[in-house]
Amino acid sequence: MTKKWWKNRRGTSRRSFLGGALGAAAAGTFWAEDTIQAYQGNVSTASKPTELKITDLRFAHITGAPMRAPIIRIDTNQGISGYGEVRDGASVTYAMMLKSRLIGQNPCDVDKIFRRIKQFGFHARQAGGVCGIEMALWDLAGKAYNVPCYQLLGGKFRDKIRLYCDTTESHDPKIYGERMKKRIDEGFTWLKMDLGVDLVEKIPGCVSRPAGMTERSVANVAHMFTGMEITDKGVGLMGDYVAQIREVVGWEVPLCADHFGHLGVNSCIRLGKGLEKYNLAWLEDMIPWTETELWKQITNAVNIPTLTGEDIYLKEPFIELLKNHAVDIIHPDLATSGGLLETKKIGDVAMEYGHAMAMHFAGTPISFMANVHCAAATENFLVMEHHSVDVPWWTNMVTGNVQPLYEKGCAAVPNKPGLGVEPNPDEVKRLAPGTGYFDPSDTWNNERSHDRLYS
Ligand SMILES: [Mg+2]
Repeated sequence: MTKKWWKNRRGTSRRSFLGGALGAAAAGTFWAEDTIQAYQGNVSTASKPTELKITDLRFAHITGAPMRAPIIRIDTNQGISGYGEVRDGASVTYAMMLKSRLIGQNPCDVDKIFRRIKQFGFHARQAGGVCGIEMALWDLAGKAYNVPCYQLLGGKFRDKIRLYCDTTESHDPKIYGERMKKRIDEGFTWLKMDLGVDLVEKIPGCVSRPAGMTERSVANVAHMFTGMEITDKGVGLMGDYVAQIREVVGWEVPLCADHFGHLGVNSCIRLGKGLEKYNLAWLEDMIPWTETELWKQITNAVNIPTLTGEDIYLKEPFIELLKNHAVDIIHPDLATSGGLLETKKIGDVAMEYGHAMAMHFAGTPISFMANVHCAAATENFLVMEHHSVDVPWWTNMVTGNVQPLYEKGCAAVPNKPGLGVEPNPDEVKRLAPGTGYFDPSDTWNNERSHDRLYS
């Protein structure tokens, strides 16, 4: 066999292939170098994955997505780059401080690198660097091996990812209801509303608390420590508000509720019971995720699914919630929970305990697509958040995927290698003028500490 034969192989019969091979073998040249190269030429790899090395980490800022979200790019010695996203509202420093730990590593060793850097993440936004890098590593591994990320996670359970969307709230339930009805008309099949005690706090007799305290003034005090309790009148009026929204959107569409305000546990139970008749899809983050026992009290007392998890880093705290059946549904944010693989693991643990996984998400299409691949590859996935339906440039921020990114309330799972999207340079430069577009980041090349966790 010669390269010339290989070039002309199209249409060659199996018989002639074997004949040629046997002939070559008889001549003692069956495994000749040119033959091996010919086989490799027919294997679809975008690079030589075993020799791939990370050479750089750079970032570009996105604002108004509607949140601020830095996107990062990992470059390699073979001209391919991977993209990730630091969680909305987090500092890009969380990613850049890890640059020196990535240089020279093979990005396809995703789990090895993740285990090396995960000590530099923590709950909520502090996990943004580790998770953004993990996304970019999967993007690179997919591009190097020429397969979509979901394939690297074990394959997909579904081709479409159901989305639930947030909608700008209004204290007027008719207006809020109409806004959500429009979502249904656009094809969304799952809705989320904000349902805060701020709706009724200015109405006499609805909320008891120390004079001068407002819902906003205790936004950074844990719910159990505010002394803010809702009255029967307050519960009744909040129920009436939901009833009017149900009148507009109907009773069939799943409707979940979030941002209740920092009420005490007993008030959460009383409010939850008052909302039971409106058949909500879930009650989100009524108290901090850290309070397993208190969550269990709420979950056991209220006949509406409970949900938490958007600020949890790594699987272990989820396991604590799950083994206690403290909430009905878990809700990791992939940009905080540990990235694609860790979030799939979280979903798998939840499934073993009999719970579904919804996915929290508020960011750009880069992180969106990381979520899509993970949701495709996780069996007990329920629904994924989309916070940017009203952001006009959102889908144009990336290229490379089938457009639109989502349709009729569902995202299509892309089959392109890696995450399946690349930033659109013109759009990204327009979004954060003057902040640089993947500028050199050499100042982070030599960041060092003694990283070991035990002596
Ligand atoms: Mg939330």
